[in-house]
Parts: sequence; structure tokens; C-alpha cells
Amino acid sequence: MDLAFNAEELAFQTEVRDWIAVNMPPEVAEESRRSRSSHVSKERLLQWQKKLAGKGWLCPNWPKEHGGTGWNSTQKFIFEMEMARADSPYLSSFSIKMVAPVLMKYGSEAQKKRFLPKIAAAEELWCQGYSEPGSGSDLASLRTRAERHGDHYIVNGQKIWTTNAHWADWMFCLVRTSNEGKRQEGISFLLIDMKAPGIKVDPIYLADGTRTPMRHEVNQVFFTDVKVPVENRVGEENKGWTYAKYLLEFERGGQAHGPRLRKAFRHLRELAHSQLDGSEPLSGNAHWREKMAALEMEIDAIEMNELIFYSNLKTGDAPGSMASIVKMRGTEVGQKITELAVEAVGWYGAPFTELRNVDSNVVPVGGAYVDDVAPRYFNQRKTTIYGGSSEVQRNVLAKAMLGL
Ligand SMILES: Cc1cc2nc3c(=O)[nH]c(=O)nc-3n(C[C@H](O)[C@H](O)[C@H](O)COP(=O)(O)OP(=O)(O)OC[C@H]3O[C@@H](n4cnc5c(N)ncnc54)[C@H](O)[C@@H]3O)c2cc1C
Repeated sequence: MDLAFNAEELAFQTEVRDWIAVNMPPEVAEESRRSRSSHVSKERLLQWQKKLAGKGWLCPNWPKEHGGTGWNSTQKFIFEMEMARADSPYLSSFSIKMVAPVLMKYGSEAQKKRFLPKIAAAEELWCQGYSEPGSGSDLASLRTRAERHGDHYIVNGQKIWTTNAHWADWMFCLVRTSNEGKRQEGISFLLIDMKAPGIKVDPIYLADGTRTPMRHEVNQVFFTDVKVPVENRVGEENKGWTYAKYLLEFERGGQAHGPRLRKAFRHLRELAHSQLDGSEPLSGNAHWREKMAALEMEIDAIEMNELIFYSNLKTGDAPGSMASIVKMRGTEVGQKITELAVEAVGWYGAPFTELRNVDSNVVPVGGAYVDDVAPRYFNQRKTTIYGGSSEVQRNVLAKAMLGL
């Protein structure tokens, strides 16, 4: 099997690489490189997303009629590779990769017209209001309540772990509209304006040391008598579980892990060259080399799986349960890279907290980028929890693919 890109694909790769090199603002790349999770501030994210939108490259996975690129799966993969290579931050997947496909499939014409162009133009950002205290893996137990009053709902309750709620314009939100029958049958899917009166957003600081206002990632969101027009309900009342599950397939399968893992692996290799094991570079240690070889094989396997997965997926298709494999293995191997990086820098990884603001002028000890290692390690613990934990993905696979 010949997996090399052909001449046309190589030309496309050069086109993408050159365009990114000219158009990605250096401060965006630098912030992404130095961030614990390749996320950047809202201003820089919008700055970059607007450039991509102007070129028509912000939503490559969308069907062309809604502003997609019409690229085939190899081109999309090349695009992801080049974005990772250039240290692009993660784009707003809540907007582009999650709520958008749900609106395309289940939204009303008015909803499509109102929301999709704003996402494609990078004018509005979304957050995801699924999880609640006590309702994470067991999502169907959620209790945030929406009561119907004529042409609007009144929403009361609490969401938790809501990534980027502090800057989002809109939230797609699961609410309970009935306590009758099975728990899944009383849930509705609402689009909530984050500026609506009665919404309070409080930060949650993670173990990675981020305590700077607006630089944090996750929040708690409280709703007190929040008025939501009925026209902002997607699909039918009490049928939200169907739309919620459809969205989860995109959340789990919407990310090409291979290119970013490959990049992080190269970084790890450079780190090992720069760290000493006695008087020799760590990269020469036989035991270390063995671990690196095993890790590289895992990345090869993920990349192969992803190539198969994406080449079978047509534009606009839902990824299905294969998405669970991609999410589970991609995040687990990503964590392994951060674990080996901590091993490589040893004690230099310890005094990280004070140094971790991008604009900090505190000088790190132990060489360039050593101070990124521990925060990344701590930050990446989240990846096997959010979007359905690895344990939950294994349950999904056992049921859907193995028939257990
Ligand atoms: C950094 C971060 C960002 C997040 N962002 C968002 C967001 O933007 N929007 C949003 O809605 N949610 C978000 N989440 C929430 C995330 O989806 C939940 O944390 C996740 O679903 C797990 O739920 P939980 O925290 O309630 O843990 P629990 O469900 O209580 O799980 C605790 C442990 O038990 C295990 N477990 C639970 N059930 C089973 C089972 N049936 N079989 C085997 N093991 C099981 C889990 O794997 C886990 O190890 C985020 C979480 C984190 C950490």
C-alpha cells in the first residue's frame, strides 16, 4: 500500500503551508505554543478564525452549501497536519464541529439562517451546557429545568465544567422539560443567549496552575429564571437526547489527533536531546529510546486508524461509534507524551505555577520550554474525562462494536 501523497496532494500541502505561514499572526502561534493546551485568548482566537473565515477555510468539514471547502478527506487531513505544524491553536469546536452539524440536521430553517453564517464568519462563539454536578457520565440524570410559559421557557439550574462559558456568546444546553417516562425522554435541546438576564458564570481553576481571570478554561454556570424563546429549541420538545447523542459523535470524532501527537512527539524528542542523563543527553539512554519507540508505534497506529476513519467518512456524515476509538486512543497517547516529558525534565518541572502566564517575565530554569512541561501534564489529565471518559468510551465500544 502506498501511503505517500501524490503530486496534486503535495501541491495542496504547499499551498496550505504557504498560506498559513503568511497569514497566521505570530503572536497567535506563540501563545498557542506556550499555552498548556494549545488554546489561546478569545481575542487571538477570533483574530485567527476571522482570517481563516476570510479565506473560506474555517469550516472544512461543512457541506459546501453552508460554507464548507469541498475538500476530500486527504485534503482535510493535510490541512489538520499543517495547522498543527504551524502551532495553530485549537479552533472553536463547540461552534464549528458540534452545534453546527446539529443545526444542519435538526435545526429549523430560521435557526440555520440565524446561526450558521455567524459561525462561518467567526462572529459568534459557543459553549456546551451538558454536564451538571452529579450528571457527567450519567448525563440523562440532568436536572436543570425549563418550564414552558407561552412562547418562552423559564430555565433554572446549574451546569458545570462549561469550557469557555466566560467568553461564549451562545450555549447549546440540555434541559429537563419532563419527568414523565424514561429519563432520556424528558430532555430538550435549547440555544441560550449567554447575555440573557439571570445567567451567572463562575470560574473553576484547574490543577495546571492557571488562576488568571479570563485565561482559565472551565466554569460553573448558574441559571435563575432565564427566559429562552421557544423558537430557540432545536427539534421537538423532550426529544433532545437524540440531538445530544448525535452531537457527541462529532465531539468525539471531530478531532484529528495524529498530526498534533506527531508534533508533540517531535517536541519530546528535542526535549530529550536537551536534557542530561548523567553527562550524556537523555535521548541516548537505551531505556528511554525503547519507550520512545513504543510511543511512536502507538502514534503510527492512531494515524493509520484516523486515515481509514476519515477516508470512509463523507462530508457532513456523523462519525458513529468509531469516534470513540479515535477519542480514547488519541487522548490516552497524548497523555503518555506529557508523562514522558515530565520524566525527561525531572525536577525542573516542579516550580511551574509562577511562570505559567504567557506574559510573565519570570525567567524559567532548566532551558527553553521546560516550564511548559508540568502545566501541560496537569492540563492534559482532563482529556480522558471530557467528552465522555475513557471508561465510558470502552463501554460504548463494548456495546456498539463488540455486541457485549
Ligand atoms: C476540563 C474539563 C472540561 C469540560 N468541558 C465541558 C464542557 O464544555 N461542557 C460540558 O457539558 N461538560 C464538560 N466537561 C464535563 C465532562 O464531560 C464530565 O466531567 C465527564 O462526562 C465525566 O463526568 P463527571 O465529571 O461527572 O464524572 P463521573 O461521571 O462521576 O465519573 C467519575 C469516574 O467514574 C467513571 N465512570 C462513570 N460511569 C462509569 C461507567 N458506567 N462505567 C465505568 N466507569 C464509569 C468515570 O470514567 C470517571 O473515572 C468537562 C470536564 C473537564 C474535566
